Amino acid sequence: MSPDGFDAVVVGSGPNGLVGAVRLAEAGLRVLLVEAADTFGGGLRTEQLTLPGFHHDVCATALPLALASPALRAIDPTRDGVEFCHPPVPAAHPLDGAPAALVLRDVDATAAGFGADAARWRATVGATAGAGFPLVDTLLAPLDLPPAALLAAARYGVLGALPATVTGRLFREPAARAAFAGMAAHAILDLGAPVTAGYGLLIGALAHSVGWPVVRGGSQGLADGLVTRLRGLGAEIVTGCRVRDLGELPPAPVTLLDLTPRQVLALAGDRLPTGYRRRLARFRYGAGVFKLDYALDAPVPWSDPAVAGAGTVHLAGTFEEVVAAERTVARGGHAERPFVLGVQACTADPSRAPEGKHTFWAYCHVPNGSTVDMTAAIEGQIERFAPGFGDRVLARHAMGPAALEAHNANEVGGDINGGAGDWRQFLSRPVLARHPWRTPLPGVYLCSSSTPPGGGVHGMGGWQAAGLALAGP
Ligand SMILES: Cc1cc2nc3c(=O)[nH]c(=O)nc-3n(C[C@H](O)[C@H](O)[C@H](O)COP(=O)(O)OP(=O)(O)OC[C@H]3O[C@@H](n4cnc5c(N)ncnc54)[C@H](O)[C@@H]3O)c2cc1C
Repeated sequence: MSPDGFDAVVVGSGPNGLVGAVRLAEAGLRVLLVEAADTFGGGLRTEQLTLPGFHHDVCATALPLALASPALRAIDPTRDGVEFCHPPVPAAHPLDGAPAALVLRDVDATAAGFGADAARWRATVGATAGAGFPLVDTLLAPLDLPPAALLAAARYGVLGALPATVTGRLFREPAARAAFAGMAAHAILDLGAPVTAGYGLLIGALAHSVGWPVVRGGSQGLADGLVTRLRGLGAEIVTGCRVRDLGELPPAPVTLLDLTPRQVLALAGDRLPTGYRRRLARFRYGAGVFKLDYALDAPVPWSDPAVAGAGTVHLAGTFEEVVAAERTVARGGHAERPFVLGVQACTADPSRAPEGKHTFWAYCHVPNGSTVDMTAAIEGQIERFAPGFGDRVLARHAMGPAALEAHNANEVGGDINGGAGDWRQFLSRPVLARHPWRTPLPGVYLCSSSTPPGGGVHGMGGWQAAGLALAGP
C-alpha cells in the first residue's frame, strides 16, 4: 500500500465500494481501494465451486437492480465489456398439478396467464413497471426525492407500504397470488410485516421493465468491468488486505467504508462519539441464507417444461406456503418446506458450464447464524417440482451462514443484505439522519448495503456516499 498521496481511500470492493470509488475517481480524485479477500467484488464474486469448468456466482446472480440503478446507468459498465444476458423468462413459480406462474418481460403476456387476475396484475405490478425510471430512481435514492417522481412514489407507496399478505389479497387466482408472494419473499421478512408488498411490486415490476439478467461469465464480470474502469482512471487496488483499524489507512481527506455497522465499530472504535456508537450497535441484522450450488449433467427436469426457460425459479408452491415458510424463519425456526430461490444461469449464459452441462444456484432463508444443514429441505422442494433432479447432480457445494460470513465479513450471520430491510431500518439505515452515509468523523462515510437503499447489486450506497464526499462538509 502506498504510504500517502491519495485523495480518497475505499475499504471493501463490493458493488457499493466499487461504484463509490469510480465516482470519486471520475471526479479526478486519486483513489486507493483496499479489499480483505484475495479477489475483489464482494457479493459479485464467481468461483468454480464444484468442478472445473462450472462457474458459480458465490453470492449475487440475478441482477435486475444493476440495470435499474441510476448509478450503474450513469457509469454504464457495458463500456468496459460487461454483458448482461437475459433468460427467455425472467421468473417462474411452479405449482403442484397446475401450470407454473410465469413472469415474462411483457406485462400483458404475463397478465394473460393470470386469468381473472389479469387486470389486477396490470394495475399493480404492471403500473409500477409503467412508472419507469423516475419511480425506480426514487426508490433507490429514497432521500433525494426528485419532485417529478413524487406522484408515482405516492401511488406506489399506498400499496407498497402494506404487508404482502394484505396487498396479496387483491389477487384471487392461485398463480398470480403465488407469483406475487414469491416476489415479496425477496424481502427476507415475515410477509405480514409492513413494506413487504413494496418489495413484491418493485421486484416484479423490474422483471417487466428491465428484466432479471445475469452477467456473461458470472457476476464477477461486473466487478471486473468496474475495476477496469477504476484502473483506467489511475486508481490503485490492493487485495488480500483486511483493514482492522482506521489508523492503518494512509491519510486521505475522504474515506468510504463498504462495511456494515459491526465492522465499522471494530475499525473506528473510540474515535466515534459514544452516542453514534450506541446507535450503530442497535442496528439489527436480518435472517441468513443457506446456499447450494450444483454442477448438473443436464438441465433441471421440471415437471412443467415452461420453467426450463426461466432464469429465476421460486420454489415453494402456493401463496400460503410462501407466507408460512417466511413466517417460520422470521420467528426463529427452520421451514420444513422452505421458500427456495433458484437460478439457472445457463438459460441466459451457457458459458457457465461445459458444453451440454448446467449449473443451478439455490438458497433458502434461515435464522441469522443458523447452523442447520438445509440441503435435504432445499432438495425436497426442487424434487417436488422437478422429480429426478438428484440423478442429474454431478457435484454440489454448500454454504451456511458461517461459510458465507467467512467468505465476506459483511454477511453477518448469513445476512445477505447488510441488515434487516424492514420499515424501521428503511428509515434509519444505519441511523436516522438526512444523510445516513455521513459519520461524525470528518471525511469518513459509510457506503455499504447497510445504508439506503439497502441490499442488492445497485451500487447506490457507494454513489450517494461519494456524491456527499465530493460535495464537501
Ligand atoms: C448468497 C447471496 C445471494 C445474493 N443474491 C443476490 C442477487 O441475486 N441479486 C442481488 O442484487 N443481490 C444479491 N445478493 C446481495 C448482494 O450481493 C449484496 O447486497 C451486495 O453485494 C452488497 O454490496 P456491498 O458493496 O454493500 O457489500 P459486499 O458486496 O458485501 O462487499 C463488501 C466487501 O468488503 C470487504 N471487506 C469486509 N471487511 C473488510 C475489511 N475489514 N477490510 C477490507 N475489506 C473488507 C469484503 O471482503 C467484501 O469484498 C446476494 C447476496 C448473497 C450473500
